[in-house]
Amino acid sequence: MRKIRSSVMRPPLAAGGAIMLTAPTASAAESVAQSAHMAAPWLWAAAGLTLGVVATAAALRSQLRAAKDRAAALESRCAALEAAPPAPPAPPPEPEPLASAPEDRAEPDVGLAELAAAVPGVMFQWIERRGGDGGFAWVSPRSTEVFGVAPERLLEDWTRLPIHPDERELWRAGLETAATAGVDWEFEGRALRGDGLARWIKGVARPVQTADGVALNGVFIDFTSERMLRDETDRLRNRMDFLLNFSPAIICAAPVGVGKRPTFISAGVRQFGYEARRLLAENDWWASRVHPDDRARAMAALDGLGKAGALELSYRFRAADGAWRWVADRRVLAPGGDGRPMEAVGAIVDVTRAAEAERAARRAQERLEMVLQSAGEGIYGVDRNGRVVFVNAAALAMTGFSRAEFVASNAHDLFHHTREDGSPHLAADCPVYRTAHDGLARVVADDVFWRKDGDSFPVEYVAAPLRDGDDESGAPAGAVVVFRDVTEARRIRRELESSLRKWEAVLAGSPVGIAVVDSARRIIRVNGYLTEMLGYREEEMVGRSTRLVLPDDSSFERLMDDAYPRLRRGETYRVEMELRRADGRLVWASITGSLLDVTDPATGGVWVIEDISPRKAQEAVLQEKTRELERSNAELEAFAYVASHDLRHPLRLVNSYLELLERRLSGVLTDETREFLAFARGGAKRMDKLIVDLLEYSRVGRGDRPWRRLESAEVVDHARQVLAFAVSDADGEIAIEAGLPTVFGDEIELERLFVNLIGNAVKYRAPDRPPRVALSVAPHAEGWLFTVADNGIGIAAGQLERVFGIFQRLHVEGAYEGSGVGLAVCRKIVERHGGRIWAESVEGEGSAFRFILPRAPGPEA
Ligand code: ADP
Repeated sequence: MRKIRSSVMRPPLAAGGAIMLTAPTASAAESVAQSAHMAAPWLWAAAGLTLGVVATAAALRSQLRAAKDRAAALESRCAALEAAPPAPPAPPPEPEPLASAPEDRAEPDVGLAELAAAVPGVMFQWIERRGGDGGFAWVSPRSTEVFGVAPERLLEDWTRLPIHPDERELWRAGLETAATAGVDWEFEGRALRGDGLARWIKGVARPVQTADGVALNGVFIDFTSERMLRDETDRLRNRMDFLLNFSPAIICAAPVGVGKRPTFISAGVRQFGYEARRLLAENDWWASRVHPDDRARAMAALDGLGKAGALELSYRFRAADGAWRWVADRRVLAPGGDGRPMEAVGAIVDVTRAAEAERAARRAQERLEMVLQSAGEGIYGVDRNGRVVFVNAAALAMTGFSRAEFVASNAHDLFHHTREDGSPHLAADCPVYRTAHDGLARVVADDVFWRKDGDSFPVEYVAAPLRDGDDESGAPAGAVVVFRDVTEARRIRRELESSLRKWEAVLAGSPVGIAVVDSARRIIRVNGYLTEMLGYREEEMVGRSTRLVLPDDSSFERLMDDAYPRLRRGETYRVEMELRRADGRLVWASITGSLLDVTDPATGGVWVIEDISPRKAQEAVLQEKTRELERSNAELEAFAYVASHDLRHPLRLVNSYLELLERRLSGVLTDETREFLAFARGGAKRMDKLIVDLLEYSRVGRGDRPWRRLESAEVVDHARQVLAFAVSDADGEIAIEAGLPTVFGDEIELERLFVNLIGNAVKYRAPDRPPRVALSVAPHAEGWLFTVADNGIGIAAGQLERVFGIFQRLHVEGAYEGSGVGLAVCRKIVERHGGRIWAESVEGEGSAFRFILPRAPGPEA
């Protein structure tokens, strides 16, 4: 409050001393007016902000005008004051203190009294005596008006001056200092008038040295209204600063038109990373930061501001970090103040977040719409009255109505009005309608909707309550329905059911056992045949492990190891094994398994189980018979061998005695009896031959010679040697193919085979041509195919098989020598060696005897 100002030299007011005095150069009121004036651009800037601020600004403007007026008045008053003779006059010559007897003091002269009355303040003289004692020496009558205290009372006791107690000390100290230092005294403080009104008082005084002490002549001015105005201005400015600094908007002002240096930019521009001070120095601060794509539009808008008076636009604005921010910019035209040209005052707000949020919301909305429209299910929403509020494309396609027909119609009336049987479907019973009212979701599996063309189609749908906004507890606003046309699904289900029934029928009627077994080898399904076969009831088998029917753990494991790897490869597995019946008996079964789904072994497998115990029993019987046959065969062979062997002895006796008889009776025998004897001996001889051949036949296979690998060429060579005489007698030729194979068997028997066949080929030659025999061999699937071909008499087609029978001959006795055992021996030898033999022939041209011998085991020659 107290100011000691730098100064202008002034002549001393009194001759009492050479004191340098300073004088105030501007009044307080002036400074108030100045600061108010300074605030003008701020106030104008504020005009663009809000209506309230504009109103305030208007009020301020009028106050300001008043303040200016008052300041001007004050100025002139002060000037008048300064021009007036210094008040108060020099202290009276009397040495007595003035304060002690005010009434004794000299009255001020008329000029001063008039002046005192004219001055709108209180003039006074204060005497500051040495020793710190001070008080008023004179006070002008206006003190009554200004302070509510009469001058006389103040002269008596200066403390009656109603100064605010807090400022009393300041007052006193100030006067003392001014007196001591000889400087002007200035005081600003509050006075409490008797009427309770606080007044702002400014006091100024100038010290003059007197003999008594220092007299301070001065004036008090009531500047309450100026002070209040100043306070109000300060308050407003603070509020404005606050608003501008903390407003999310950036307030700016610039002369109208693009490229003008701004007159004001609020500090809030720092939210874009800029410093207002620096931007104020740029002509192009705004346009250069508008996004190039938005610039032309923004500048055109700004150009039009002069005409439009206000504008609102949105564009991207570059922040200091280079990022583009969406801003909303509102501009108004406002007077520049003090007669300056009109200004564009703008409020720029960063709406990037809002714009992003809006974009995100829009995108979400679009996505939702897309999902809604692309969903395969029909989807529509209804309000509480059942009116459609939205519908998707699938719902339109399924019902055949257009969007226009759908929207705003009553959904129930449109396509849900009738039940499947043709009876009316009342809206009150409609699940959708009920959901829209009670807020409970419903799933409906069996209903129909009606198409525009009048047909119905079966639907399944879900009705869920539609709620408004966040109100989760309140009543629903409607319902949303998601439905499916289940015509196709029903058809598939029917087909499935029918195929399932068929499958069940197959299962039930199948003449084989069928079991479905899961991947854990638990029985899932069995058919009647299987339960019957194994003596269980169905429920006794289902759910149990397959161990139940397998005879033991090892067979369970074996099946696991053998079957499952193959099943997993997609193969079918077949095995014959015994299963255990409920009564403990074993039953032979053929089991065939395959996986239900090779791509997913976990689905398990299906097993077909056939009861093969009858076949097994038959096989056993057959085996038994075969064994018996083999036994009796062996017995027969043994008998034939023994018989033929033993028969030769008595035959030889018969023969010997016949010879003896012939010799003894040679003289008495007639030709006829001699012939009889010869017949008898011939018969015995022939019988012996038969017995020998029979013996040979029964010997085949009885030898204990080891089988070995044989070169068939060598075997054939031996045979040829045996037959050498017979062949040359007959003038025959035997051609043997080169490269005969290695065979495996009994050497003696194989030699006999070739001897018999080649011997027959020579023996049964045609009478008109010498025998030509060819032995050839060819590889065959079963081994080697040998052929002994001749150009002999041949065999009638009907006899080709008979010739292999024992004692079977095609000729009358005596035509060809032989017993009919040779080919029987051949067949026995070939079969014993694992092959087969047959004959081919063209009667009269020749025969071919063919036989196959298996390949010799081991490396081929
Ligand atoms: P055998 O020669 O001792 O009569 P086989 O068993 O060797 O007895 O022959 C049986 C019959 O087959 C012969 O009696 C003969 O009639 C007929 N046969 C065998 N080989 C030939 C052949 N190469 N050509 C014509 N007939 C043959």
